[in-house]
Amino acid sequence: MHMRISDLGEFGLIERIRKTASRSTRRAPIGIGDDAAALLLSPSATLLATTDMLIEGVHFDLKTTDLFSLGWKSAAVNLSDIAAMGGEPRFCLTALGIPPSLTVEDITEFYRGVTTCLKKFGAVLVGGDTCASPKEFVISVTMLGESERKRMITRSGAKPGDLIYVTGTLGDSAAGLELLAAGAKSRNPGVGKLIEKHLRPVPRIAEGRKLNISGIVSSMIDVSDGLSSDLGHICEQSGVGAEVFADRMPLSKELRSVNSLARPALEFALSGGEDYELLFTSPVEREREIMSLRVRATVIGAITRKKSMHLVTEKGAVHPLAPGGYEHFRRGQQRGSAR
Ligand code: ADP
Ligand code: MG
Repeated sequence: MHMRISDLGEFGLIERIRKTASRSTRRAPIGIGDDAAALLLSPSATLLATTDMLIEGVHFDLKTTDLFSLGWKSAAVNLSDIAAMGGEPRFCLTALGIPPSLTVEDITEFYRGVTTCLKKFGAVLVGGDTCASPKEFVISVTMLGESERKRMITRSGAKPGDLIYVTGTLGDSAAGLELLAAGAKSRNPGVGKLIEKHLRPVPRIAEGRKLNISGIVSSMIDVSDGLSSDLGHICEQSGVGAEVFADRMPLSKELRSVNSLARPALEFALSGGEDYELLFTSPVEREREIMSLRVRATVIGAITRKKSMHLVTEKGAVHPLAPGGYEHFRRGQQRGSAR
């Protein structure tokens, strides 16, 4: 009997891989299971390593993205995982599977996007691999960064009573994707902003650094799959639950004002994904210190001892909050929108 991968799901499969590998080593205090691995090179230096893949038709559609933006985003999503560990990005490797439809100019434009993004956040391209692909454009990016040895913010440190914060605004990217897919023109500046957030997300490197150096953040993850899913990862790995307040959700004025969307703004914010904002927790008595860091963070809820997630509506009704973000191999999900 063979089990189908869709029976396990993406996260079940990763757990299976983790158990099969099952070699923890002193030199890798953080291995499979966080935003980036933390590897001890010497008593003073910790290397952060993360890799992410983008596949045409799964993560992007060449009809709705230009190659500069695709290059930028490929770098940005990896930088975001370094940000989520509170690290400083340093080096990048890119591996491409290039279909016959792409030209030299296309690939040059892609790398203009990659390197513009890397430069902005202090990293450089140092290697990779180049192959022909029969049909789809396949992109694999590996990012290496560094962090102070004693300071690494994982997904597993959230404690009951901690406040839950998120930087920036949520839901813009998913709304931008919906507008792109519907063929919306970015002439309307609000629509343009949402689409830009989807095509060229900004990794929160400086914010991650400040939060790390503050020493008062108990857990952190970047919002790649969607708030409900990524908060779910923190809860599961910290052995806690969470209560999120609907009326605290940071929604951009663009998301609130664009009225051609099929779903309410709150839904995009809760399960949209690809915002690449930082979601983190910190003890309640540290709230003023967090605010003084100027990382543009909003309190959206609190960690609970009870190991389930809830959404409290404006009127005070309490609903279960299920991880609703994207998961690979899950049945019945739309293509072209994966994280
Ligand atoms: P993120 O969304 O932050 O990129 P993922 O959900 O992709 O994180 O991965 C979760 C964890 O599982 C990470 O530590 C990642 O390195 C690890 N992981 C994912 N796929 C594999 C794999 N095929 N082999 C080993 N580790 C994996
Ligand atoms: Mg991540």
